[in-house]
Amino acid sequence: MSSLVLKAGKEKSLLRKHPWIFSGAIQRVEGTPKNGDTVQVMSSNRRFLAHAAYNPTSNIAARVWSWEEQEQINAKFFRKKIKAAIAARDSLAIESYSNSWRLIHAESDGLPGLIVDRYGEVLVIQLGSAGAERWKDVITDILQELCKPACIYERSDSDSRRLEGMELRNGILRGEMPDNVAVIEHGFHFRLDIQHGQKTGFYLDQRDNRALTEALARDKDVLNCFCYTGGFSLYALRGSAKSVLSIDTSAEALCIATENVSRNGLDDARAKWLEADVFQALRKLRDQDRKFDLIILDPPKFAPTAAFVEKAARGYKDINLLAFKLLNPGGLLASYSCSGGISTDLFQKIIAGAALDAGVEAQIVHHLHESADHPVLLSFPEGAYLKGLVLRVAS
Ligand code: SAH
Repeated sequence: MSSLVLKAGKEKSLLRKHPWIFSGAIQRVEGTPKNGDTVQVMSSNRRFLAHAAYNPTSNIAARVWSWEEQEQINAKFFRKKIKAAIAARDSLAIESYSNSWRLIHAESDGLPGLIVDRYGEVLVIQLGSAGAERWKDVITDILQELCKPACIYERSDSDSRRLEGMELRNGILRGEMPDNVAVIEHGFHFRLDIQHGQKTGFYLDQRDNRALTEALARDKDVLNCFCYTGGFSLYALRGSAKSVLSIDTSAEALCIATENVSRNGLDDARAKWLEADVFQALRKLRDQDRKFDLIILDPPKFAPTAAFVEKAARGYKDINLLAFKLLNPGGLLASYSCSGGISTDLFQKIIAGAALDAGVEAQIVHHLHESADHPVLLSFPEGAYLKGLVLRVAS
């Protein structure tokens, strides 16, 4: 078997069980491993550290499959890991209120680069690493055997695949796509577009935070920015909001959003939809002197990697500052960031700066994160990408 021998001192993060080996940590490669092949990772004094999947194209040159020297990386290994991930979700009992959840959350489930979301009878799989790609057929067979879905659909078309040197792919792997696939969540029916939608079609990670919105919305004028297919908007409407204005640039997303509102019997005069850029729309609303009692900001990933942090920080500050100015006294701002490159600490600092510049005093009333089907492995803090704060401005 091929080996990666690390530079002296570069084994430290692996001893803490962090599953990434950066290209700069490698002293030499023994053998001629190809993209996705399993290699042994050794310290500079040739101590075994891990079995990992190799990818010479990526900055993350290897991702750990196992810390056990005896482990064989084969179909049996993947069956064990996938079974464990499924059992972990079963223990969360999400089924009692939804038909959709994240079945496999990559590194945090010990399967680097592999994401699998379940939408009722459909599984959507996303392969984001050369290792996951190498074992695609084996993984697909195991999912078919264990979950017996009507369809397994591949959405390996996120830009991050390019960083891994892999082409983008989108299509059916097994079975047939049933008509009208829907997310059923807390009594709602959300239509989703698995083929073209964002991520694998829906933001499962925001499930608990959407439910919180319902509880907060009563009698409020709500502004939902970056509304996508209307998740937060529907919850706010059912939570007896006075009005809900929802903004997104995507006409396709807004089309599904309005369909979702009608199919859930919430299509009334309270709901307004605006196809616009949020950065501009917030300025317009400010100039019109509009005010709201609850504003939701759930923007796309402004900082996919650390290199974008500064620009992203400016973007977050801009929209949060404008949102603070649009709030009535005592109003609430629910502000999110799904940027891996922005830490919880930094996010809170950005919001504090925005409040200061907006001239408002605010308190944090909720610290939020991704739902429990997106667990965070303790040794892999990067798994915690979604952070949210609900802030109440002084009355
Ligand atoms: N809150 C949603 C998910 C938001 S995803 C939910 O819970 O389902 C981010 C959304 O932002 C996408 O729908 C995308 O179309 C939209 N978007 C991206 N840039 C935008 C911009 N500048 N202005 C308005 N919408 C934007």
